[in-house]
Amino acid sequence: MKVYEGGCHCGNLRVAFRTALDPAQMAPRACQCAFCRKHATGAVSDPDGHLEFILKNPDQVHLYRFGLGITEFVICRNCGVYAGAHMPDGEAAIGNVMAHVLDAHAQFTLPTIPVVRSGEDEDGRRIRRRKSWTPSTLVTGSA
Ligand SMILES: [Zn+2]
Repeated sequence: MKVYEGGCHCGNLRVAFRTALDPAQMAPRACQCAFCRKHATGAVSDPDGHLEFILKNPDQVHLYRFGLGITEFVICRNCGVYAGAHMPDGEAAIGNVMAHVLDAHAQFTLPTIPVVRSGEDEDGRRIRRRKSWTPSTLVTGSA
């Protein structure tokens, strides 16, 4: 397993994505919902990895919810960067990270794949994400 670190522009929001997958084999997914299109997203995930969002000053991080309201879209309030998504799911949570916020973004060389998820209900969305998203935690502090 390798750890791919990254974060927002100002440094308040950090991410650590642990995976054994090769970035050159991971095609970032460009969700076509209105929010993701406006951010030009390219999400990567690994169900066998781990994703950590590190909120140095949580007052300066916005956990934006919309649509079904089941997902927290993790955005730095200070610099405006959208780092990834975090979905509480029972006792745990799963998430994804935007490849372009990782320090090693240039290693993700495959073109993004547009994906349309607008037809899903909550159950269908959770079932799909449990298979493909990364076990995820939100951590407060400077860890
Ligand atoms: Zn920031």
